[in-house]
Amino acid sequence: MANGSEVVHGYPHLDTVRAAITALYRRLTQEGLYAYAVSVAAADVAFADDDDLHLGTQRVAHALVQQLRLPDARMIVSFREMTHAASVELAAGPEYFIELNDRFRTHRRDIGAALAHEITHVLLHRLGLSFPGTRDNEILTDTVTTYLGAGWLLLDAYREDGVSSQKLGYLTPEEFGYVLAKRALAFGEDPSPWFTSPQGYGAYTDGRALALRDGRQPPLTAAGWAGRHRYAKDRRHAQDHGPVAPGTSDPSAGPGLPYAFEGGGRDAALRVSFPCPTCRQRIRVPVRGRVRARCGLCRTVLECDT
Ligand SMILES: [Zn+2]
Ligand SMILES: [Zn+2]
Repeated sequence: MANGSEVVHGYPHLDTVRAAITALYRRLTQEGLYAYAVSVAAADVAFADDDDLHLGTQRVAHALVQQLRLPDARMIVSFREMTHAASVELAAGPEYFIELNDRFRTHRRDIGAALAHEITHVLLHRLGLSFPGTRDNEILTDTVTTYLGAGWLLLDAYREDGVSSQKLGYLTPEEFGYVLAKRALAFGEDPSPWFTSPQGYGAYTDGRALALRDGRQPPLTAAGWAGRHRYAKDRRHAQDHGPVAPGTSDPSAGPGLPYAFEGGGRDAALRVSFPCPTCRQRIRVPVRGRVRARCGLCRTVLECDT
């Protein structure tokens, strides 16, 4: 895991974050994800600077191994001088060797955050789930850490004051907030009271606004007036200018639009595709007014006005 240098804000990795959520649903299934419905408790990963370093590290590592459902895995944690914040050796197990940067000896409150990311690497290694390229794989790791209930620690480790800033992980604070909010919406959790960092909490509320917007896009009935108006115009265009070759997006659906029309014309009924607000898998429904669809991947029931 990289050490936080200059803190980047916003959503530069959003596409990869969303792809990571979909990949996680595909790999674990919605039933499998229920095992992660409760986040790791703050008390179980709390670490005061006067706690014994090695005993405390073992205790926090154990709590995270439990949270990530790795019952037989044992984490051997050591500290050394290094440029990175932390690293893990991915071997066959059941013992895994994690190294933490020496600075955590005196910043014990953030040991849980660093371990959460590294132990998620072990989980992903065991699941055989990876993205090509180091950057995307690290984004996958942060996204999964957060979606499985341990990543709020990483967001809470983000702190800024007049003289210094600290951030752990590869997602921006707002992206951590987005994934945390997606998780909160899926599992009915409220992580707001867990934050000790005002900056972390601010990033959570920012990410949450974007996560809520995912659920208010046309053709979902929760879409606002402006979105519905635009959607009706695009639909009329698709109906008038068909047929569009099946499987290709309607050219009228401009970049950034969450939906695309498919089919239409004489041979095929017009359909609209859009990402599921929960798992981001693409869903296709016929264009015929009110439609209730169920996402085949995460089972969310979606009320649509197509
Ligand atoms: Zn990593
Ligand atoms: Zn879904």
